[in-house]
Amino acid sequence: MINKISIVLIIITCFSCKNETKSNGKLNIVTTTSMITDLVKNIGGDYVNIQGLMGSGVDPHLYKASEGDVTKLVEANVIFYNGLHLEGKLVEVFEKMGSATKTPIALGEELDKSTLIGSDYFASNYDPHVWFDIEYFKQFASKVTHVLSEKDPINTENYQVNAETYISKLEALQTKIKGTIETLPKEKRILVTAHDAFNYFGKAYDFEVVGLQGLSTATEAGVKDVQKLSAFIIEKDIKAIFVESSVPRRTIEALQAAVKSKGHEVEIGGTLYSDALGNAGTLEGTYIGMFEYNVNTIVNALK
Ligand code: ZN
Repeated sequence: MINKISIVLIIITCFSCKNETKSNGKLNIVTTTSMITDLVKNIGGDYVNIQGLMGSGVDPHLYKASEGDVTKLVEANVIFYNGLHLEGKLVEVFEKMGSATKTPIALGEELDKSTLIGSDYFASNYDPHVWFDIEYFKQFASKVTHVLSEKDPINTENYQVNAETYISKLEALQTKIKGTIETLPKEKRILVTAHDAFNYFGKAYDFEVVGLQGLSTATEAGVKDVQKLSAFIIEKDIKAIFVESSVPRRTIEALQAAVKSKGHEVEIGGTLYSDALGNAGTLEGTYIGMFEYNVNTIVNALK
């Protein structure tokens, strides 16, 4: 019996010899996470066609390529993904996708590895949630600009102008959120969420970060983890814990119930966007809007 991955690989093999084709003279770009899609939209603007595979609320750790996705990937001129094993179920597809004319670009793999947070959960040995440090996202922006300019030299100047505008917006975001976070006393900066997506955020903005589920949503939290973390919440007198948009609520609700069963109260401080942005057309549907929303939600609930 031919399984799904075999079909995927057959399709890839059949198409990988195809020359690069651009529709309407524009580069066809395929991206994975909504954060990367938003970034490429900001830099590519109207000069490229972009198709993002993962919409809002989609968990990249568990995402599997559909046959439609594989067709999009095969027909793309450029593929940008996070890498560092974030898109765990797509690794094999990307590895087979490489050819002389097209190498999928893992933006996270381009970062200086010695500065990344190590992890035993992922085959990459690194925590892949790098977009929560805006400095790294700025490096993503530079890499995307470089690749687009190289693949489509006619529009180099346009990409560079767009990149300068976007990077200055990211710098303004950094200043703004630092100001917001400074209003929260250091001892209250403890962030408890469903899974460990916020380690880079914690490192950059001086939060202690505790995830219930480990780094990847592929591993469920056990009863022991819930008991241990509920004791920690009571000991540290933490006011609020947080749900994530791409992780089921039940893990955090179980934690809240465990705290309650010990005679204490902890609020659910709101829903954070971790591995996916909000709906397109909303403020949280952009990387910058998502970051501001998360920081406001965290600071308001923990104050
Ligand atoms: Zn994650």
